[in-house]
Amino acid sequence: MTKIAIIGGGIGGLATAYRIHEQLVVTGKSAKITIYDASDRFGGVIASSMRDGFTLEHGPDSIIRTKPAGLQLIKDLGLEEQLQPTQEHARSSLIAKGRKLIPVPDGLYLLAPAKIWPFITSPIISPLGKLRMALDLILPRRSWEADEESLADFVRRRLGREALERIAQPMISGIYTADPEQLSLRATMPQFIEMEKQHRSLILGMRHRAREQAVASARGPRYGLFTTLVGGLGTLTDRLVERLRTAGCEFLANTRVEKIVKAESGGYNLTLSEEYRHFDHVVVALPAHAAAKIVKPLDQVLSYKLATIPYAGVATINVALRADQIPNLPTAAGFVVPAVEGRTLIACTFGHHKYAGRAPEGHALLRGFVGGALHEAVLERSDEDIVDGVLRDLRDLLGLQGKPLFTTVHRWPKAMAQFVIGHTDGVAVIRGRERNFPGFAMVSNAFEGVGIPDLAAQAEAAADRITGNNRQLPGSINDAATRAETA
Ligand SMILES: Cc1cc2nc3c(=O)[nH]c(=O)nc-3n(C[C@H](O)[C@H](O)[C@H](O)COP(=O)(O)OP(=O)(O)OC[C@H]3O[C@@H](n4cnc5c(N)ncnc54)[C@H](O)[C@@H]3O)c2cc1C
Repeated sequence: MTKIAIIGGGIGGLATAYRIHEQLVVTGKSAKITIYDASDRFGGVIASSMRDGFTLEHGPDSIIRTKPAGLQLIKDLGLEEQLQPTQEHARSSLIAKGRKLIPVPDGLYLLAPAKIWPFITSPIISPLGKLRMALDLILPRRSWEADEESLADFVRRRLGREALERIAQPMISGIYTADPEQLSLRATMPQFIEMEKQHRSLILGMRHRAREQAVASARGPRYGLFTTLVGGLGTLTDRLVERLRTAGCEFLANTRVEKIVKAESGGYNLTLSEEYRHFDHVVVALPAHAAAKIVKPLDQVLSYKLATIPYAGVATINVALRADQIPNLPTAAGFVVPAVEGRTLIACTFGHHKYAGRAPEGHALLRGFVGGALHEAVLERSDEDIVDGVLRDLRDLLGLQGKPLFTTVHRWPKAMAQFVIGHTDGVAVIRGRERNFPGFAMVSNAFEGVGIPDLAAQAEAAADRITGNNRQLPGSINDAATRAETA
């Protein structure tokens, strides 16, 4: 019987195994699928738990609706009825400034405003900073034949330093936990490049876009585009594991794959700690740094390219409270904190506002984020120290009173891929090298996108490669329309 190994039991690996199994069923072929994970559980960074009536997300909490592969996977797994939208009254966000939380001005979309008046009246940017932003209306466009530009250089050039520090950096940090000085605009938000090409001014481009797409009502992240599952996103990975076990897949936890070698007889040998096993097909579904180590004997260039993709670590801190401990909590989904504020928190979600049923009646659930490319040193601190820093910020910014009912800290070292300058070209090389190996496929949050739907789309393509089905990967990295929706 054909043997298929999936290395990595996060959403990338599980979704690929599921799509392969599905195609085998359709074509009437049979194969033995084995899924390896170095940790003691499956799901990777996706994990949810219940405690005292609170639904806790340890890693991701939302799926964007506009990238079809994520929702399609949920539907195919029979989980459509468990989908839960963001609560309508909380579809806005705030930005920290000093000890205040200021609403994101109406019509602001990531970097630039689509509506002028709410922006002029907002205290988020100083009067001088606003004047500098207005220069965008007359500044000439850049020749986009020139070198790639970082997100920071782009925002500074068009809108000025204050717009970068007070708006773009914290907003982008909420998505990529990245350093904007390194982040590739082309790989992450090419819609803004298109805007400059077409409209010269970002503000004019945003106004045009607002008219076309009615995004003017958006306030910061468009929360209406996000969804989750009842019980948390762990429901998704749990269902995948359940379906795959029922289908006869072999799950090997606590089993680190150390290297992949091409077998002389065809196929691949996987080296495990004390043995090696032969497979006809192999899927590597790992963060790029982990993939780099195991593919080294297969292809040095591939390994090198993977190793050059940087990652940042983050931690999430759930804070369970009685509602009366934060009596003045704004009606929003949460807030972001500019790095210039020098706080422990980089962002915080009001979990019970964002999704219904996350906290028992009369209670509140906050979820803080720390770390990321600009604050990684925070992760060297002890859990107690991190929680102290987060609670200090919550006291300052939300007026938190007393001690929380409980807190949890979940650390995700080297989990967030950083799409730095040159990323698009690097991924093109990686995909080119991958094609040299028959029966071999790679899935990673370091390639076409970091989100769950991006991995679900890659899983479809990887399954096609393994089973010989010839569909195209939906949403390639250069597909501006798809990237626009990520943002
Ligand atoms: C805190 C946080 C919040 C996020 N929020 C969102 C969100 O709201 N929405 C969204 O769409 N995305 C979000 N993301 C991004 C998204 O969740 C991840 O990019 C995605 O889940 C990664 O899945 P993966 O399968 O590629 O990798 P992982 O989940 O990292 O899984 C890889 C697995 O491989 C295993 N492994 C590693 N090395 C080996 C080896 N040598 N042999 C065998 N096994 C190995 C690991 O143990 C791990 O289980 C978030 C990420 C984090 C960390």
